[in-house]
Amino acid sequence: MGETAEAAGERHAVVIGGGLAGMLAVTALLGHVDAVTVVERDRYPTGHAFRKGVPQARHLHVFLSGGLRALEELLPGTGRALTDAGARTLYPPRDLVTRTVLGWQHRFDERRHGCLSVTRPVIDGVVRDCVLRTAAGSATRLEVLEATEAVGLTGDAGRVTGVRVRARKGGGRTGAAPPAERTLHAALVVDASGRTSKAPQWYTELGRPAPRQETVDAGLAYATRMFRPTGPAGAPDMGVNVPGWPGCPRGAVYVPVEDGTWLLTAAGVRGHHPPTDDQGFADFTATIGDPYIHGLLSHVDPVSPVYGFRDTANRRRHFERPGAVLEGFVVLGDANCTFNPVYGQGMSVAALGALALRRTLDSGGGLRPGLAHEAQRAVARASDAAWSTAVGADRPYADGPDARAGLGERLTSWYVQRLVLGAVVDPVLGAAFRDVLCLTAPPSRLMAPRTVLRTLLLPLRPGLSAPPTAVIPLDRAA
Ligand SMILES: Cc1cc2nc3c(=O)[nH]c(=O)nc-3n(C[C@H](O)[C@H](O)[C@H](O)COP(=O)(O)OP(=O)(O)OC[C@H]3O[C@@H](n4cnc5c(N)ncnc54)[C@H](O)[C@@H]3O)c2cc1C
Repeated sequence: MGETAEAAGERHAVVIGGGLAGMLAVTALLGHVDAVTVVERDRYPTGHAFRKGVPQARHLHVFLSGGLRALEELLPGTGRALTDAGARTLYPPRDLVTRTVLGWQHRFDERRHGCLSVTRPVIDGVVRDCVLRTAAGSATRLEVLEATEAVGLTGDAGRVTGVRVRARKGGGRTGAAPPAERTLHAALVVDASGRTSKAPQWYTELGRPAPRQETVDAGLAYATRMFRPTGPAGAPDMGVNVPGWPGCPRGAVYVPVEDGTWLLTAAGVRGHHPPTDDQGFADFTATIGDPYIHGLLSHVDPVSPVYGFRDTANRRRHFERPGAVLEGFVVLGDANCTFNPVYGQGMSVAALGALALRRTLDSGGGLRPGLAHEAQRAVARASDAAWSTAVGADRPYADGPDARAGLGERLTSWYVQRLVLGAVVDPVLGAAFRDVLCLTAPPSRLMAPRTVLRTLLLPLRPGLSAPPTAVIPLDRAA
């Protein structure tokens, strides 16, 4: 298609990676180019099943309200389609309650942030279906090349002009000759190939230095298992989150997903990684900061093995910096920025980044000189809030060249930590914190005068000693 489109003088875009960010990039491009080709190295499964190209899909994936708003703007009706496919809406702290070092949070009846809890294969399958339906009604032609891998870019040190691709080995007959490479020419290439993106290497192959990369790695590892409750005791009317804290850097989260199943994810920093054998995993949950989740295991049956995941670093590549932009090339989603998953931000940032790309295309009349720089800066801005939340919280656990926080960040971390502890019993502080965490407000929301006064002046009070059962109406909360 690439060759044909170029021969006909068409405006053709190629998206590398047909995962979440790639599919959302397609919606951003619809109406702005004549044709889009998505290059995906996997074959898509039938139904909502796991696939190898997204290994993190075995683990808990909560879609935050800020990301859902962006998703809805890009693809109206997707939230409803996810709910129809079994996604559970959780309003923290009403339906997802956290145990902190000071005790359990009060279950305020706050409905500011409807977050979705469902397994990742459902999210990807539903979003893909919505994108394919939307594209079918658009003037832009969409072609998805499955079992096809991007292996490099074409162009020079100033501009990308296409993508080198080849069919994946094993996608065809055994004993067949190695698949040949071909080039898809494009006026715009979007890299949405996720955390294993080769974009930095492709930069150097074109004669450009790789963009600066910042890494803040708390060394966290995940282990996740799916369960089915055997009775009501295994299915409380809320999800529960017991994060690690200094002195007990092990935690776990237990949330409902589709079809009456629940996911239990355990996590720990270096020296505290959760085991992935059945008994070790169960024993680990007895060593976190509260016994409640371990107690639930007597009321559930496992319906999956335990899966592990270790590459959880916050990693940001500064493609937006002056001198780092390649004309005709934009990087989105995890290929641009990955986050420690405990903050649940990656999918939301992918959606916010795709929306930023669409707004850049809309505002300036589509493809044009300088688009890549504008779009990449907009994508970077869409990641800023999530990045500062994640690295601010993780730097104390990190090592490496980017691990040292400046005085400003150390003061901010101290302040946010105090705010979070105050939020255990104070709905005003809780609302401010959740607005920022769920990516509906910038971090400056935490510096509103009322919030600052409450954070600094209210004495810290203990939370509840056991998981809350009663929901507290907000008018009785203060
Ligand atoms: C353990 C864990 C838990 C997480 N939990 C959450 C959570 O609760 N909430 C949240 O919002 N986020 C969470 N995330 C983050 C989330 O998984 C990512 O942010 C999200 O998947 C990013 O989407 P993406 O499309 O950029 O990348 P991916 O979803 O990884 O998709 C990349 C796609 O590119 C394809 N691909 C790769 N290389 C090539 C190539 N060379 N050629 C062609 N195709 C290629 C892959 O097959 C894949 O389909 C979690 C991450 C981890 C690791």
